[in-house]
Amino acid sequence: MGVSIKGKEVVLSLISEIDKNKAWLSEIDGAIGDGDHGVNMAKGFNMAKEKVDDTGETLSEQLKSLGMALVSNIGGAMGPIYGTFFMRMAKPIEGKCEIDENDFKSMLENALKGVKKRGQAEVGDKTLVDTLEPATKVFSESLEKGLTFKESLDAMVKAAKKGMESTKDLVAKKGRSSRLGERSKGTIDAGAASCYIILKTLAESIEKTI
Ligand code: ADP
Ligand code: MG
Repeated sequence: MGVSIKGKEVVLSLISEIDKNKAWLSEIDGAIGDGDHGVNMAKGFNMAKEKVDDTGETLSEQLKSLGMALVSNIGGAMGPIYGTFFMRMAKPIEGKCEIDENDFKSMLENALKGVKKRGQAEVGDKTLVDTLEPATKVFSESLEKGLTFKESLDAMVKAAKKGMESTKDLVAKKGRSSRLGERSKGTIDAGAASCYIILKTLAESIEKTI
């Protein structure tokens, strides 16, 4: 049985959490990048806020609108990648008013596929894929083990955190920080951190409803 999730509330909480973590995300990016990740993300997400009221109620419509706004408003590497992430999340639940755990599994899997294709990054390259791929795998394995939607979301958030933390000891293979080679070791990746915030916020807003 699916649950009705308020798309507007979900997107507004994503915008607010990214905004709250703006300084932290830019600080992380500053260590091995150019220090603009938080600013870029907050700018893109806040521009998306203007569209929330003109967009339909469903989670799919809201996520699609967020993705489209991000493509045109986030500077740097992340616009096309997070744009793809949210548009791909929206696709499997198009036209649905209620979603269940299997829908959420499809949303994660479709987003992961799109992000990997768009950025050509794999696990171990020190990007958001290091957060997203283990989170997606653990969510679907949890469902297979018979865990509930909520338990599987909790497991997903834990895996996302572990994935984010795993980027600390990696050498960046994609994007700006890859230019540093070995010197990119020692700090977590900014995109892996923003992806953790996004997955955690999604889980929390879904958990409020189930
Ligand atoms: P820029 O690198 O243009 O300054 P941001 O600072 O906003 O852009 O984003 C940097 C983040 O982008 C990195 O931390 C990394 O996670 C992500 N990233 C860069 N290139 C790729 C890629 N090809 N695939 C996936 N993620 C990427
Ligand atoms: Mg940057």
